[in-house]
Amino acid sequence: MIPNTSPWLAQLNRTRPAVPLDADASADVAIVGAGIAGATTAYFTLKNTNDSVLMLEADMVAHGATGHNAGQITSYFERPFESIVKEFGLELAVEGQRAIESAWGLLDEIVAEAGLKTPAYRFTGYAGCSEFEQVVEHLEENKDRTQGGLPQETILIAEESGWAPALPSFYEGLYSVVSQENILALLETDDRRYQAVIASQKGCMNSARFTEELIGHLLATYPGRFSLYEKSPVAKVTLYEDRGELVVGEHTVEARRVVLCTNGFEQFHIENTSGSDIDTKFHHLVQGRIGYMAGYLESMNASPVAISYFPKGQPVTGDPTGETYFYFTRRPHGEEEGEAKNLVCAGGPEQVLPNQAEYSRNQHCREDVRESLDDFLGSTYKHYPDPGTEYAFCWHGLMGYTPGGLRRIGAEPCNPVLLYNLGCNGVGILPSIYGGKRIARILAGEALETSIFDPVDQRCLI
Ligand SMILES: Cc1cc2nc3c(=O)[nH]c(=O)nc-3n(C[C@H](O)[C@H](O)[C@H](O)COP(=O)(O)OP(=O)(O)OC[C@H]3O[C@@H](n4cnc5c(N)ncnc54)[C@H](O)[C@@H]3O)c2cc1C
Repeated sequence: MIPNTSPWLAQLNRTRPAVPLDADASADVAIVGAGIAGATTAYFTLKNTNDSVLMLEADMVAHGATGHNAGQITSYFERPFESIVKEFGLELAVEGQRAIESAWGLLDEIVAEAGLKTPAYRFTGYAGCSEFEQVVEHLEENKDRTQGGLPQETILIAEESGWAPALPSFYEGLYSVVSQENILALLETDDRRYQAVIASQKGCMNSARFTEELIGHLLATYPGRFSLYEKSPVAKVTLYEDRGELVVGEHTVEARRVVLCTNGFEQFHIENTSGSDIDTKFHHLVQGRIGYMAGYLESMNASPVAISYFPKGQPVTGDPTGETYFYFTRRPHGEEEGEAKNLVCAGGPEQVLPNQAEYSRNQHCREDVRESLDDFLGSTYKHYPDPGTEYAFCWHGLMGYTPGGLRRIGAEPCNPVLLYNLGCNGVGILPSIYGGKRIARILAGEALETSIFDPVDQRCLI
């Protein structure tokens, strides 16, 4: 039996005691959930408005998906960009992509202004394609990006593949042809099935440590305006025309606005006394998926990177439909303890959580999944096993897939007292940060342009 041991939580070094809510309370804004979405929403709200913020967390800060992810900073959507263009039109799709990419700058802003010490590594990351169709999907995205005024992504195709001459002429200028040796070197593999590579800006960070540090900063900077209650699960949210009331154990919290940053896995009931029912729709919006990861420590013989591999039969844009691809990140680990090593985290396998089924963070890691990750590294990653490689961590976390595969950011159409910054969709670090900024702008009273992240309910269009 392998316990669920996240390397991110192991690095928290937290000393702050968990304080549960022990009396009725009120605030301008109540934020439910203290993951990276809750923390960044609180940060921008405190910075950009005069509102007081009260944060409620069922467990402990950053112990949800934020503490159990792959920690890769990346800006792609887990559905083909082309399909977003089809659904929303080129302009809105490009704006959505630009919004997520803007979160790189927001991340820098937070780190600089709050003086955070959590290391964040930034580099060029790679995705390896083994099929012609996968490359076409990315060329299509590059075409849309260019038409919409976004910077092009680098796409390299192996000369040996024979794929370039088979491409329609309208893709010309959107890719380069190189030798397969170049492709394999970038992908750090000897697996000759990989014939093309997409290169884009990526990074990695311990998002749990970032979140914990940011919350510590907010508590120190805004003692009169920010309060945090952990071990304080919200059981019920009642929405009125001008306020919300949250039930936490025997106590209630009253707030003008309520922001759900719960990832999607709320264990509570919502009652809307001022408009259409929200509860049943909301509960069925988000599908649960458990993502499994394994971590290995190896000598510090290579720089930080993130690489994904799409074997035959897999689309290049994630797996909301259940396909499996593999990826790894590599970053320094344990430097502060004087034991600097590289931590290589591998992930890919996912399991759909049956409707209404309970997920428990305390469940053990699955031995078969750990073995498949081990096989993947063994067959693909050319530095593995390095003579000093040691298996160190195995963990899993819960993701919430929204039906459209896009994060839900904004006011609930059936009662705007309630707002959302949730729906992790497998890639959630940058979207959560962007969501935090967008929610703060709404709370500040700005009228925002329509976006692909807007919560929509046809019955209650505003
Ligand atoms: C295995 C895995 C790998 C991933 N890899 C990546 C990656 O490489 N890159 C990337 O960008 N994203 C990745 N993600 C997604 C990313 O981690 C999440 O999108 C992001 O951390 C979500 O943050 P959040 O704050 O929305 O949710 P969470 O961190 O889950 O926080 C939600 C919080 O709400 C609390 N909560 C829920 N219900 C209640 C309630 N009723 N009352 C009070 N509190 C409540 C929970 O306890 C939790 O702490 C991954 C996720 C998983 C699970």
